[in-house]
Amino acid sequence: MAEEKLPTRAQDFSEWYNQLVLKAQLADYAPVRGCMIVRPYGWALWENIQQALDGRFKATGHQNVAFPLLIPKSFIEKEKHHVEGFSPELAVVTVGGGEVLAEPLILRPTSETIIGHMWSKWIQSYRDLPVLMNQWNSVVRWELRTKLFLRTLEFYWQEGHTAHATKQEAEDETRQMLDAYTDFAMNDAAIPVIPGKKSDAEKFAGADTTYSLEAMMGDCKALQFCTSHFLGQNFAQAFEVKYLDQKGQLQHCWTTSWGLSTRVIGAIIMVHGDDQGLVLPPKLAPYQVVIVPIFKNDEEKASVLGAAKELKTQLAKAQIRVTLDERDGQSPGWKFNDWEMRGVPVRVELGPKDVAKQAAVLARRDRPGREGKISVSLIDVPAAAGKLLGDIQQSMFDKALTFRRSNTHAAADYEEFKKAVETGFAFAGWCGGDDCEEKIKEETRATMRCIPLDQEAVLGPGGAVGSGNCVYCGQAAKERAIFARAY
Ligand SMILES: [Zn+2]
Repeated sequence: MAEEKLPTRAQDFSEWYNQLVLKAQLADYAPVRGCMIVRPYGWALWENIQQALDGRFKATGHQNVAFPLLIPKSFIEKEKHHVEGFSPELAVVTVGGGEVLAEPLILRPTSETIIGHMWSKWIQSYRDLPVLMNQWNSVVRWELRTKLFLRTLEFYWQEGHTAHATKQEAEDETRQMLDAYTDFAMNDAAIPVIPGKKSDAEKFAGADTTYSLEAMMGDCKALQFCTSHFLGQNFAQAFEVKYLDQKGQLQHCWTTSWGLSTRVIGAIIMVHGDDQGLVLPPKLAPYQVVIVPIFKNDEEKASVLGAAKELKTQLAKAQIRVTLDERDGQSPGWKFNDWEMRGVPVRVELGPKDVAKQAAVLARRDRPGREGKISVSLIDVPAAAGKLLGDIQQSMFDKALTFRRSNTHAAADYEEFKKAVETGFAFAGWCGGDDCEEKIKEETRATMRCIPLDQEAVLGPGGAVGSGNCVYCGQAAKERAIFARAY
């Protein structure tokens, strides 16, 4: 049976992505426009992402909670910038149980308002602080243009919410969680993100400061990986979240929020995928190893499957997530292609000759062909696979970092800038003016992604740093920022 081929990334990156998400059975379109169904393989990937992050959140003292999906509409109207930012994309419930509701309800687009409302009841004294919470849930934003994982009407995420006695503590929390996300992105997702600060025009509706991680996709466009917001006292004032300090004075709290969504699955697909399909980072892959048995007759089948099952047991004992492809009626070649498309990091090929030699062939997904294959004795497979998974994880990160740096250009003037954003990221001086940022966006479709916190890490040793002049108006620059077309 001939496999239907994906378009290559060079032919049509967008269509390559759309078809791959469906073909790899990560997700599917729902009956309601713009909604997404996450299928078991996609959800297993999300569960591994959740687990990796949840451990980091708990290690920094956060506790999980569950707030309701429905929020009184009046809540969203209490914070001026928040309502301006979210009103256009709210889903509103006006009828319940056949009755028109006295007050319309919204499906949460995020939970700052309802959490602020409850904190005003729960927080009385400095002894009640800090409050460190997180929730795993889904939210609804009525988006017009949607794409599976990247932008859907409903999506899954986590939202962290914290309240503090001092400004400094809340600012430290914002940065601490950005660091936790950075660690996850670099070490688990193998994505070399750029941590940075957003411009005022790009920050969260209701935040004083928004930080984000920005990543370069395989088509050189930017994707915002996650955000961490310092909310100042904006929500504490709107919802009267106050505490009595040690001197008996009533003070407003300082709050933060931070979130990461199923969007990062889109990032993993677009950063690491190739023309054959997904390439999943070993730390997050639902299956790290797939065993494909090879046989021609019943006799071979019995001996090969026996050895394959034993190998599966040994790999599982070594804490490796493994599956054995026993599907009938598909050739080994078809199975190789299928698992390659689904991005399993290591494939173990096991045929009658291998069993006779008490050996197996290990093939790494990130290096297709002969170059990525090694023969290992059966007894050594778990150790060899474990080592290989570590090598793959590192080499995927290195490859993505080289790609990002070679497609990021320090632009000295506007001509260079325009060329740079045609093919990747521009790293350029900016005067800090909203006008320049807006004009750049209008004329080049590139937005200000972030002001990198570590300027030297953008281009690596010897790369451009420092501010220079604003690439648009030529005046002295305040910052050197990343500009790019973005998802
Ligand atoms: Zn300027």
